[in-house]
Formats: sequence, C-alpha cells, structure tokens
Amino acid sequence: MAENYYDLLGVSKGASDDEIKKAYRRAAHQHHPDKSGGDEAKFKKINEAYQVLSDKSKRAQYDQFGQTFNGGQGSFGGGSTGGQGFGGFDFSGFDFGQAGGSGNFDGVDFEDIFSNIFGGGGGGSSRTRGRQSGRGQDIQVDIEITFAEMVNGARKKVRLYKNAKCDHCQGSGGEPGSSIKTCPTCKGSGQVHKITRSFLGSFSQVSVCPECEGQGQMYEKKCSVCRGDGRVKKEEEIEINVPAGIESGQTISLRGAGEAGKNGAAAGDLYILVRVATHRKFTRSGLDILSQEEISFSMAALGGEIGIETIEGNLILKIPTGTQSGETFRIKNQGVPDLHGRGRGHHLVKIVVRIPKHISREQKRLIDELKNLGE
Ligand SMILES: [Zn+2]
Ligand SMILES: [Zn+2]
Repeated sequence: MAENYYDLLGVSKGASDDEIKKAYRRAAHQHHPDKSGGDEAKFKKINEAYQVLSDKSKRAQYDQFGQTFNGGQGSFGGGSTGGQGFGGFDFSGFDFGQAGGSGNFDGVDFEDIFSNIFGGGGGGSSRTRGRQSGRGQDIQVDIEITFAEMVNGARKKVRLYKNAKCDHCQGSGGEPGSSIKTCPTCKGSGQVHKITRSFLGSFSQVSVCPECEGQGQMYEKKCSVCRGDGRVKKEEEIEINVPAGIESGQTISLRGAGEAGKNGAAAGDLYILVRVATHRKFTRSGLDILSQEEISFSMAALGGEIGIETIEGNLILKIPTGTQSGETFRIKNQGVPDLHGRGRGHHLVKIVVRIPKHISREQKRLIDELKNLGE
C-alpha cells in the first residue's frame, strides 16, 4: 500500500509550504542512508513526497486524485522510474516477473491496472472503450451442408434470436417526438471521474458516463418499446450464400449481421461455421473427389465396363484389360470447384479387385486350368 505523502512527512493536509519544507528537512535528515539507523527506502519515499507536495500543481493533483500524473506516456518508458524521471509511481519495487509465482498478488489484474493508469493519465483515451462497449455482440452459429451443397454452393436459411434494432425508435432509444436534454449525471461532458485504489496507489479513472453512454445528451422520454436501449429481442431469419468449394470447418463472416448495438451503436458480426456432412460414397481431398469401386477378378483380367457414381450423375467407366487392384482412374473436371473460381478438381476412382472368398467347383476347375497355363 502506498503511504500517504502527508503522513510520510508528518504534516497535516492543510500544511503551508514552509511547514512542508521544514518537515522534509527534518525527516530527510533522520532517515538519510549515510547515517547510522538511516533507511534508504524510507529516504526515497520522503523525497518523492516532498517533490510532489512542494510543487503547487502536483500537490493539487495529489489532493484531488491521491496520485500525480506526468501527462505523457513517456514517463512509463522501460518500466523503471529509477532516480530520475519521477512520475508519481515507483515501479522499481515490484518484480512483475515473479508476481504470478509468489502468490502475493492474487486477484490483481495487471493489465487492468495499467489500462487504468494510461486511461486516466493520458486524458480521455478511454473513450474508445466506451464505444466498444456499446457495440453489439458477435454471434456464432454452426450449419451443416451436404456434400453436394459443398460442391454446388447453396443458399441456407439461418434462424437467429438476437437483439435487433428497435423499430419504434429506429434504434435511438428515445420516444419519437421526445426532446433532447443535457445528461444530468455528467452535465454534458459524457465522462465521469472515478478514483480507483490498488496496491500501486490511487488512480483517477475517466470513464464513459453510464447514464448517457458518453453522449452528453439524452432523450427526455425513453422509448416505450425498448426502454431506451434502442434494441429489442427478435427472431430473425436470414439467408446466406454458401460458396461452392467451401471446406468443412471454414467460417463465413457477415459484417454487421450480429446483434444490434446499444442506442444505434455499431452492430456485431455474424460468424457462420460451416460443416460438411460426410457422404456415403465420396470423400474430398483438396479439390478432388475420391471414391472406390470394386470389380471382379475376371473383369480385372479381361477388362469391361462398370457404372459409377459421380457428383454430376452416373457414368460408364471403361476398365482396361489387366487392371490392377488399387489402380486409379481420373474423370476430369468432376471434382470440387475452387472457392475462388480458379478451376475445378477431378474425380478419382480407385479400383479394388474383389478376390472371391468362396468358389464353386466349376470356378475352381477353371482357375486350376489358368494356373496350369502359368498364371
Ligand atoms: Zn452523462
Ligand atoms: Zn425503441
């Protein structure tokens, strides 16, 4: 916990400049590290306290916010304030690298503390955060399409139950015809000041006025339908184009199709995760479609024709004499179209030769004969 500068010097809050100077000399003398019983850390603190309380504007700032700010980001460079470049905080005493392991800082969110420091010290930089908080939520939905829809592209309907723009007030949050008044909470500035205390000391945090959402103005009468939020829960059905060639697991994003923002703020986005259902016959490999067909032992040897299924319909495939098991035949341009319109893959048919497990006496006789011929 940071010590109070007045207490450090042993003076009251209303002390005059002269009293502060005297108190500082006395305290500095007492704790000077060169003296026996001196305390370097304490001595540094006393110097800090004096630097602030002896400076009119810094003292005023300290009185108001419990801390001082240098104004620019420059004062935080390197994270060490060392001896010079005093900026109101002393980071040198904290080992951030060990904070997690030691367990001393449980529950303290460093990032949050620093954003508070910069938000407060920089002056007004927290406005963007306010804008973001009014933005509508993103929505993610999953859809499943068939293998054929993946190849051909599809239009799909998606049902959403979401915060949508209120029709009554057009998202403004004000009752139509209502006049506009200055926000009584922030008196029109759109900002409120808040003192945040942490183990680093107290910081003034400028945040967006919760009453008017940073607008500084508000409607005299809130919208009777949405109660001033500018949006209402609605069920909505939208149609989306799923492009041909999309891969399972890819996401289609639609800007602004998420939830409506508060009081007309930007809407969130809609993310549609597309899954392609498995097909009983086809699998996909890049832009190619793969399938497998069995042929008989005799057809492999003698050749012939088989009917095969492709994504575009049925075809007759010629099996040449002496086809080997595992051999692949390519049907050009019957694969998956490229998502960006750059051509189309092929259909690859893998032939598997079926070796009979049970054979008749007659078949056995013929195969024996074949064997005797040297095959
Ligand atoms: Zn306000
Ligand atoms: Zn409304």
